[in-house]
Amino acid sequence: MANIEFFTGENIPLEMHKVRIVQKLNLPPVEYRKDAMEKAGFNTFMLQNKDVFMDMLTDSGVNAMSDRQQAAMMVADDSYAGSETFTRLQNKVTEIFGMEYFLPAHQGRACENILAEAYVNEGSVIPMNFHFTTPKAHITRLGGRVEELVIEEGLKINSDHPFKGNFDTDRLRKLIEEVGPNNIPFIRLEAGTNLIGGQPFSLENAREVCAIAKEFKIMTVLDASLLQDNLYFIKTREESCKNKSIREITKELSDLMDIIYFSARKLGFARGGGICIRSEEDLKKMRELIPLFEGFLTYGGMSVREMEAIVVGLDETMDMDVISQGPKFIQYMSDELQKHGVPVVTPAGGLGCHINAGEFVSHIPQEEYPAGALAAAIYIAGGIRGMERGTLSEQRNPDGSEQLSEMELVRLAMPRRVFTLSQVKYAIDRIVWLYNNRDLIGGLRFVDEPKTLRFFIGKLEATSDWPEKLAKKFREDFPESL
Ligand SMILES: *Cc1c(COP(=O)(O)O)cnc(C)c1O
Repeated sequence: MANIEFFTGENIPLEMHKVRIVQKLNLPPVEYRKDAMEKAGFNTFMLQNKDVFMDMLTDSGVNAMSDRQQAAMMVADDSYAGSETFTRLQNKVTEIFGMEYFLPAHQGRACENILAEAYVNEGSVIPMNFHFTTPKAHITRLGGRVEELVIEEGLKINSDHPFKGNFDTDRLRKLIEEVGPNNIPFIRLEAGTNLIGGQPFSLENAREVCAIAKEFKIMTVLDASLLQDNLYFIKTREESCKNKSIREITKELSDLMDIIYFSARKLGFARGGGICIRSEEDLKKMRELIPLFEGFLTYGGMSVREMEAIVVGLDETMDMDVISQGPKFIQYMSDELQKHGVPVVTPAGGLGCHINAGEFVSHIPQEEYPAGALAAAIYIAGGIRGMERGTLSEQRNPDGSEQLSEMELVRLAMPRRVFTLSQVKYAIDRIVWLYNNRDLIGGLRFVDEPKTLRFFIGKLEATSDWPEKLAKKFREDFPESL
């Protein structure tokens, strides 16, 4: 997305693509939306997509493909073993990341499962800038422990720090000395740190972290699922990288790592995933797990068509016009919401616009899941499906008490190249309406609570009749509107 100024001075992001396939959307009336939310157990994951107008749940597997990706899918080489498609994917990964070996897996968490099975033992400690739900679940499943070492600024909702996803390297060093390098199978660096608002780390910080790892002979693992946003921010926010190409930045970052894995549901605008490996020794540790959990070594549970789409998608990720669309739309949405007083995470990150539910509905105690309640209210108010990223997404402590989250956020993901600016403006409008009626929003409580990853399939109910009151107020304010 090139920098194009408007004569009238309007400051809006201009799409550097045109739409050639469309999907009709459906916006049911507010009364229906309230019933649908109740039926879904106040869990936006459980809504039917036909009842959703703007699906901002996630950027996973829902990014728009390019014409070149679609074309590549038609020439996929479908064979169980030795497929040309796999060779193309392996070559592309090697070209971009400079690592010799590649193991395919069906999505990001599958890579995490393989990594955890290969390296995590009872008592292992895995330092990371911040946890993500799926790697944490795999690490703890095997008796390991996660240590979050993001800089203090990373946990401040509002800040002007350009790289809130940076590691606190002093704490990293201290942790290694405390637990001993032998108990640390690897350090995990998460690009575009998901759970703190899609916040990037800097290339300089990655260099420092990897230098420490090297000093103590600890392996470095990059979770590159959200790398494309992180690359955009390195290029636009890191002075020393202004004149470097995206390819050069990617290569410099990869050169620091022993292993890079990614969810191709995000990176590469397709579906799938894989693990890029530098050494033969590490390859051997993980290779035999692929046929066991994923599929044979030349497809790893992916369809060959998706693999062809990843090849082209990874190539397009090296194009600044392509990777700036998401962050620029998110910046626009965050800026407009702020103009109307709506509390959002700043600076705007990648992946989505993050609303600070802790402040938006500060009257709801954390035990009643303010971010979950706000996500439900946003659906009722606008048919917009977002995701809770707060206490509801945490796992309970071993004694059964709630692990209160550091932040209560609602993430409105911006699937790449999917929404038009008028749709984004609609979302802004409905959230501003909701903000002006925020006192009507109440809390939630569990009716059916799964033990792991409870946010995916748990069922909740409202603690009062607030959903009825909210829908009624909407009808008063918009007598004729859906
Ligand atoms: C989505 C995501 C994953 C998991 O990938 P899936 O393909 O959804 O399994 C891992 N890490 C990060 C940072 C992610 O955003």
